[in-house]
Amino acid sequence: MYLCDIHSHTKLSPDSEAELLDNARAAVAAGLQEFCVTDHCDLLGLDGLPVTSFQWPAAKAQYHAVKAQMEGQLILRLGLELGSAPYDPAVARDILAQGGEELDFVLGSIHNWIGMEGGRDLAFSNYRDDLALSRRAVESTLDHTWTLVTQCPDCYDSLAHIVYPLRYIHRDGVELSIADYEDRVRAIFTEVAKTDHAMEVNVCRGNDLDSWPPLLAWFRECGGSLVTVGADAHRPEDVAKGIPAALDMLKAAGFRHVTTYERRKPVLHKL
Ligand SMILES: [Zn+2]
Ligand SMILES: [Zn+2]
Repeated sequence: MYLCDIHSHTKLSPDSEAELLDNARAAVAAGLQEFCVTDHCDLLGLDGLPVTSFQWPAAKAQYHAVKAQMEGQLILRLGLELGSAPYDPAVARDILAQGGEELDFVLGSIHNWIGMEGGRDLAFSNYRDDLALSRRAVESTLDHTWTLVTQCPDCYDSLAHIVYPLRYIHRDGVELSIADYEDRVRAIFTEVAKTDHAMEVNVCRGNDLDSWPPLLAWFRECGGSLVTVGADAHRPEDVAKGIPAALDMLKAAGFRHVTTYERRKPVLHKL
């Protein structure tokens, strides 16, 4: 089995203080063969204010320094978790162009309310006893994910954690399931598959294994074959957490490969 974790954060993300070297050492200790750093670049920040650039010089400097130190121990890739690309596709494309040849992988995320609720991160809303707000959060995320996959397919390689708002809706005790939105999710997955993109199984540091079996089944039925896996670690101790279980789920769902990316091209590894 090819052990890879291609979703992780360092101190270049606003919600992490991790050093890339510590994450990479943790990846080796966990037995990973391949690891990708995907710091956040959200076109709407946590507070909902527009962001128009990414700190590429710092990201490339830490990547090259740690890659050299990990030579022979770990394949290290440079990625980006690009959030809210549909909010401003021109800015998204400009940021990705600056990643240049060194950019291996782009996760496409929707973390924010776009054009609603002050544009803030969906994590900051209080969903308790508010089914209407919870539904709006899921619907808004699916709307903008649809725009991402149909109008900005060049702005992502793998569709990140489609269940993102449900993490917080469930945190606040509201019962809502992605199964209520099956038709819309299938339409998104069909588009992802048709355009040769991947979907991400994001196990959220080992905390979310249950969401994925039904989604993997839908993705496969929609023609999908490329799946990436990520623990979404923001600290070294969370690197690779839940990855072996994610790979088992892929296998159980009938997938033959797990996908990683090099220079934004998929590379398939037998499960
Ligand atoms: Zn994310
Ligand atoms: Zn992330």
